[in-house]
Amino acid sequence: MEIACLDLEGVLVPEIWIEFAKVTGIEELKATTRDIPDYDVLMKQRLRILEEHKLGLNEIQAVIAKLQPLEGAREFIDWLRERFQVIILSDTFYEFSQPLMRQLGFPTLLCHRLQVDADGKVVDYTLRQRDPKRQSVLALKTLYYRVIAAGDSYNDTTMLGEADAGILFHAPQNVIEEFPQFPAVHTFEDLKKAFIEASNRDLTL
Ligand SMILES: [Mg+2]
Repeated sequence: MEIACLDLEGVLVPEIWIEFAKVTGIEELKATTRDIPDYDVLMKQRLRILEEHKLGLNEIQAVIAKLQPLEGAREFIDWLRERFQVIILSDTFYEFSQPLMRQLGFPTLLCHRLQVDADGKVVDYTLRQRDPKRQSVLALKTLYYRVIAAGDSYNDTTMLGEADAGILFHAPQNVIEEFPQFPAVHTFEDLKKAFIEASNRDLTL
């Protein structure tokens, strides 16, 4: 039995915090783990900025509802789901991703959760577990699934390494060079071919 695991941001949808910063014009929200390596410090800063701008969950979701999946992503995920059971493993938050997941037909998503109070204010967040992408692949392997995984960045590499087959998609050149063991593709057509190649079944485009 085979199962496909996909990263979300950078693979199917744009980087949500970055796009959110662009739409709202809040420059400070463009900071990522590249600027602030400590994820807790980064998230606390993001929550403080949301509060300063009086952005509660309703306002956030209204902004994100204007975003769209990457071009070709819906067609790709539909294609993949006809051939594999698919689980999306992401470091985003359910509340953030929901408007985009709707446009993707709500495939299964494992990610983190925001804590929101009765007034809609985002007060905290709950990370699902440590190293969540790799742990998910490990768990699927205990169910004797053969796992094929694809992602675009550093936070995907432990998932790709744990999977039976890992594929880099839309990855920046430095990641491709640092992880030459993974095939790297840049278009959805090539990603389909990479999944077919990695599969031990006789699949066709
Ligand atoms: Mg990503």
